Amino acid sequence: MFKILAILVIPIVAYAFEWKHHDNKELKTVLDAIHEKCPTITRVYQLSHSSIRGVPLYVIEFASKPGKHTPLVPEFKYIANMHGNEVLGRELLLKLADYLCDKYNEGNAEAQKLIETTRIHLLPCMNPDGWQVATDTGGKDYLLGRTNNHSIDLNRNFPDLDRIMFSNELGHLEHNNHLLSMVDRLTQPIQPETRSVIEWIMTTPFVLSANFHGGDLVANYPYDESRSGSTTEYSRSPDDETFRHLAQAYSTNHADMWSPNHEPCGLMGYNFGKQGGITNGAAWYSVPGGMQDFNYLSSNDFEITVELGCEKYPDADQLENEWERNKDALLAYMWEVHSGIKGQIKDAVTGKPIPHAIIHVRNITGNNVYDIMHDVTSVHDGDYYRLLTPGDYEVTAYKDGYLPKTQPIQVFNPAHTEARRVDFELVSNLPPVTLDGYGNGIDYEAYHDAMNPRPNDLSKRWYQVLLKQYHNPPN
Ligand SMILES: [Zn+2]
Repeated sequence: MFKILAILVIPIVAYAFEWKHHDNKELKTVLDAIHEKCPTITRVYQLSHSSIRGVPLYVIEFASKPGKHTPLVPEFKYIANMHGNEVLGRELLLKLADYLCDKYNEGNAEAQKLIETTRIHLLPCMNPDGWQVATDTGGKDYLLGRTNNHSIDLNRNFPDLDRIMFSNELGHLEHNNHLLSMVDRLTQPIQPETRSVIEWIMTTPFVLSANFHGGDLVANYPYDESRSGSTTEYSRSPDDETFRHLAQAYSTNHADMWSPNHEPCGLMGYNFGKQGGITNGAAWYSVPGGMQDFNYLSSNDFEITVELGCEKYPDADQLENEWERNKDALLAYMWEVHSGIKGQIKDAVTGKPIPHAIIHVRNITGNNVYDIMHDVTSVHDGDYYRLLTPGDYEVTAYKDGYLPKTQPIQVFNPAHTEARRVDFELVSNLPPVTLDGYGNGIDYEAYHDAMNPRPNDLSKRWYQVLLKQYHNPPN
């Protein structure tokens, strides 16, 4: 007996990425083709609501296990084409997906490491109806197609959490994370496209993201809304240093966003190159109800807004060149999701993960010691992620029913390396165990330790904050 070796000839219709403005149907076709090339590391899915005219909002996900959160693997997202007539980001994200897939298949070590250590979500188009209007009307108008089909600007349609946070500040209540439950009124109805993204943010533990626009060339960071109501005013967030670094990670890896030698956009334009290609949002112009600040104030996510160039709807023959100008920045910014620290919070006795623990950070670098008054929380498997710039810090983990624990750490952020791991095992503050186990004789040593935890003002501060918030809901 001998076996005949059959040579299987599989007809492969190679998918080749085409530089063009892909319409709303072609967008899905491109994502499906990429999934076919990279079936084990990608998934194409749609957000919870379609656009008003019924076009689904499609996302392509890259991960070693697509479809679910893996503990200690940070989640990242890029969103483009939120303003329907700002279309470059849409094509860049389609190309980025194609590029990541090809590089992974080619065995490119960097692409493989990025995908194996990160869960990446790309939403090339948040406003397909606006894109259709802009495209049908020639794509040259400054505003046509900007809004959704109800004429609502989606980047003004998010609940205005800045206002809640600013009023907290006035009440000396420095509580500025996970504020969505404090919203008690909306200035306009939440649109389906916005609702989709809110639900996405609330159900996915994103760590870092960027939102692509057009009309200028700059990386814009929180806050987008001014404290005083002024149209232009630097509006500093507690993570100002980290946000400036993140914005620079994009601008300095872009062909010339960082450079003072290019012309400003339009007659009234500002040369952001003079400040390294970055700007605080409100220092440029104040935006209430924007998506960027909503991410930071409603979740653990840090988001910046990237303006990709003067031309909102560039001709198709410029797209490939724009990809070359943005490619390194797109990749470098994704790697930033691995900066700072990450870890797992567990119960010291049972070893079970502790979700919803609070991670507070104090910057103790040099003489510039301060609390970063923006806490992150651990997610379902007790894992947490805290973006930080290089320096010395004290990190404290809190959870009701446990003694807080503080660890001093150093952050170095070596390039293309996972975040430094800092785990916490928290000890319950329940009454102490008796010596004989039958209620006779208290273990005084254990009791003393339990009742006299290391003095920690922050712990007290947090309880005051939570109590105040509970008893004095904002008007
Ligand atoms: Zn825009």
